[in-house]
Amino acid sequence: MTTGNPHQKAKGLPKGTTRRPAKELCSECGLCDTPYIHYVKDACAFLNQQIEQLENNTHQRSRDLNSENELYFGVHQQMFSAKKQIPIEGAQWTGIVTTLACKMLTQGYVEGVVCVQNTAEDRFSPKPIIARTPEEVIAARVNKPTLSPNLSILEEIERCGLKRLLVIGVGCQIQALRAIEDKLGLDKLYVLGTPCVDNVTRAGLQKFLETTSRSPSTVVHYEFMQDFRVHFKHEDGSIEKVPFFGLKTNQLKDIFAPSCLSCFDYVNGLADLVVGYMGAPFGWQWIVVRNDTGAQMLDLIKDELDIAPVISKGNRKNAVQQSIPAYDKGVTLPMWAAQVMGLVIERVGPQGLEYAKFSIDSHFTRNYLYVKRNHKEKLEQHVPDFAQKIVKQYQLPKA
Ligand code: FAD
Ligand code: SF4
Repeated sequence: MTTGNPHQKAKGLPKGTTRRPAKELCSECGLCDTPYIHYVKDACAFLNQQIEQLENNTHQRSRDLNSENELYFGVHQQMFSAKKQIPIEGAQWTGIVTTLACKMLTQGYVEGVVCVQNTAEDRFSPKPIIARTPEEVIAARVNKPTLSPNLSILEEIERCGLKRLLVIGVGCQIQALRAIEDKLGLDKLYVLGTPCVDNVTRAGLQKFLETTSRSPSTVVHYEFMQDFRVHFKHEDGSIEKVPFFGLKTNQLKDIFAPSCLSCFDYVNGLADLVVGYMGAPFGWQWIVVRNDTGAQMLDLIKDELDIAPVISKGNRKNAVQQSIPAYDKGVTLPMWAAQVMGLVIERVGPQGLEYAKFSIDSHFTRNYLYVKRNHKEKLEQHVPDFAQKIVKQYQLPKA
């Protein structure tokens, strides 16, 4: 089931016209392509940051700011590392997200799954759908590493009479979804989230690939890995590894979407269950069960997983502090130095949950500076208390 632009049809806007009240901060979550645009002032993650209140509504409590793991990773009951015993070919990692979504459909927990396929013309251009069969879910496996209007399909829920729905999505999509959840007429909503950071438009993605990979046109998949390298998988199956410290930061600084430069929900705090990788050892996925619904979802596929405890090693603090001015000045190392640095930091650098905290610290400090410099009037309302607490651990440049 595919989507057009229901809002334009519903409101009779001329073709190609879209309303985006968040302007340059819009993450193209898709809400404004539907009649639910009516709620945008309240629901949009970039117009009305309300994650703490929505956390309370969703999980019946807010995160415990005195527990370091809750401060960073949000409300949760359990966290562990996992991988599919039999991985799904072509999935981003081992396919835990796809497996769970298929299981929820086939076992009748839900009638549809909001997920993202790619367009016929381009493997990285997103095409949100409501999948009604496992085949349609499987066709949506692997990241489309671009802003994706997942919520543009919301109007179909009512039209198709869906009552039980699973939504797969990233933080900004899920915040808007949670804000209008009670308007959707559903009996049950399940939310399977992934962490998300540094997303880009399709044009921005092209610039990243062209600046960073030896063969941009053959990249089928990439990930910023826990070994401090970007791993590009090419069509022929070969893996190209580029150290983070060798990225051409001076050229890449402006490719990230302004929405992502002002986002503080890296870990998808409003999902029932989160599946990422950054808190797990290399090769494993990272599972965060936030509430009873998430636990019930995970139970459906537990017997298909190898499971291991999370680990935490090293100390991130100096590396984060040093990276703040280096990023600000767009410092890029020569490739040989970046390779050496990558090898050293892989041995002695932060691992497991400490790596995840390193990544959150680096992005939150950068984003705090971005909001302060570009949207100073929003700073206080837009940065949640937990993010303020994280950022305050570091010395930031004055201006
Ligand atoms: P698969 O079984 O391959 O399923 C992937 C699912 O992702 C599909 O169901 C598809 O519908 C959905 N999807 C694809 N593209 C998008 C999109 N643009 N928006 C919303 N949903 C989408 N994890 C981390 O730990 N740290 C990160 O920094 C991080 N950044 C990410 C950035 C993006 C843009 C995305 C989409 C994911 C990111 N993740 C991150 C999650 C991680 O890359 C994997 O998606 C996750 O671990 C699930 O792997 P899998 O093999 O189970 O997924
Ligand atoms: Fe609308 Fe979503 Fe953009 Fe906000 S982020 S303006 S809700 S499309």
